[in-house]
Amino acid sequence: MAGGLWLAVFPYAFLGREKSDRKGVRFVLTASAAEMATFGNSWMLAMMSTFPEALVRPFAWRYLKPQDMPDGTARFAPYGLRKIESVLVEAYGEDSVAVVHPYNLEKFVGADTEAVLVSTMDPLGLAYVSTTYNPLIGFGGEALNRTEFVRLMRHRVFEKWRVKKVVGGFGVWQIRDAGLQEKLGIDLLVAGECEEWIVPILEKMRSGQPLPKYIRTVKLKEFTRVPLIRHAAGFGAVEITRGCGRRCQFCSPDFRTKYDFPLQHIMSEVEVNVRNGCDSAFLVTEDIFLYGSDARFNPNPSRLKQLLGAIAGHKGVSEIAISHASLVPVLVAPDLLDEITPLIIDKSHYRKGGKRFVGVDVGIESGSVRLMKRYMNGKAYPLRIEDWPEIVVQGTGVFNDHLWYPMYTFILGLPGETEEDVLATLELFDRLKGSVVFYVPLLFVPLEEAILRSAARSSLERVSELHWEFLLGCWDRNLRTWAEDINPIVRLASFFALPYMRHIHGAGITRSLVRFIGLPLVKPARSASWKRCEPDYCAQKGRTTLERYLQ
Ligand code: SF4
Repeated sequence: MAGGLWLAVFPYAFLGREKSDRKGVRFVLTASAAEMATFGNSWMLAMMSTFPEALVRPFAWRYLKPQDMPDGTARFAPYGLRKIESVLVEAYGEDSVAVVHPYNLEKFVGADTEAVLVSTMDPLGLAYVSTTYNPLIGFGGEALNRTEFVRLMRHRVFEKWRVKKVVGGFGVWQIRDAGLQEKLGIDLLVAGECEEWIVPILEKMRSGQPLPKYIRTVKLKEFTRVPLIRHAAGFGAVEITRGCGRRCQFCSPDFRTKYDFPLQHIMSEVEVNVRNGCDSAFLVTEDIFLYGSDARFNPNPSRLKQLLGAIAGHKGVSEIAISHASLVPVLVAPDLLDEITPLIIDKSHYRKGGKRFVGVDVGIESGSVRLMKRYMNGKAYPLRIEDWPEIVVQGTGVFNDHLWYPMYTFILGLPGETEEDVLATLELFDRLKGSVVFYVPLLFVPLEEAILRSAARSSLERVSELHWEFLLGCWDRNLRTWAEDINPIVRLASFFALPYMRHIHGAGITRSLVRFIGLPLVKPARSASWKRCEPDYCAQKGRTTLERYLQ
């Protein structure tokens, strides 16, 4: 019996020694524990790492622990890190690369390690959700994402072995803008798509040639060289499309060339995830309806059916989730959801009242035609942006009729936003009453690659009574629609928090919070205006002021 057990574990014991000897692996890839975590395969739950550490760590700690393969490498890792792993394995060989959980770094970094490559989406908690909700909550410390990232940057292996620290991913702009690159000891920040550039960068670094501290890569044009992932990505992520093309000015994915990955490529990655222990498929796309679409954004139902049918038909996949979608295609192709919903609904990740539904993130952004025209003219294409509020109302109806219950994001504080713009958003919100939607209002953040990258970031300090009405109105409706069981507890807690909230956010929150609590004492605040950007703040950040956008 004991001999049989030894035979069973022997290959793993051997592998463990091979990958993690004291000399270290040449290239070690990792991410912060918060970004490596798979949160029980729920990317919705993963959002908790954007909230204050003191509030979420009691729930998150169990997800932050390493999930290892027998050789000590990570069982799951962010999809982008898996892509870089594949590129490096092709260039340097399997033994030169290890993707590991940050708590295991010491086992893999050693004298032979040339660089530790770190991937990050939100290193300092400065992305949309953290920017909006952490100041709103007002206590609990830094975002968990931030504390775990800083912890990783200060890991003793960097000091001990003097290895290069290279950080890439969507979130690197946060480190540069916060001026923390040097303080965190980061040798190189790499922004943008890396598949084509990471090997030349590492070679240059190795040969001692001078490199800038911050590299922005040129966007990828030749996708046939994008390798397949070799091991499982967190959540069973698999990239369906890249880029978009609708040209929204606040958006960074739009900068990427629009590309549909071939079905065979996608299915091979689904297979990799399944084979490595992940039975879900999380379809990563800026808009699922872009898959196979033409240059006028008309969807391609037959290609979509082929794609979704193949993934849902894979016997190793028991759950499917789609990251993003848009509204217009379901109006220009009225039969689209009739055709594709039956393919995926039985494997959909989401349930409401025990019944499965298709959940998907859709960017609505604003109810103001003026702002949509100015910054997101292509959002409605091939329909007219002038009809945006009507498109949203009609599209929501089509979604709900087919058991698609979307998560709608709205952006408050876009440059040049006026009182009329916020009122238009509130009006649209009123028209959506009765729909099954999860609302996520967010404050505007100028993203690195976006056209509006130089605009001033909005902040809770400058929100008006109207904004509070929308912010709290959204959460009021979310509680009623999605969490009726905890609704009374949240209202009661908000009642006791009222003086504190008033203290940190000012009198502007009072009326909306009183209504949120459910005290029918006040009318909604439908008159206020967005305060202008603080010149000091803009100057300090080296950003232009709102006035530039008001010309
Ligand atoms: S539609 Fe979405 S992904 Fe496309 S450019 Fe606009 S915000 Fe970006």
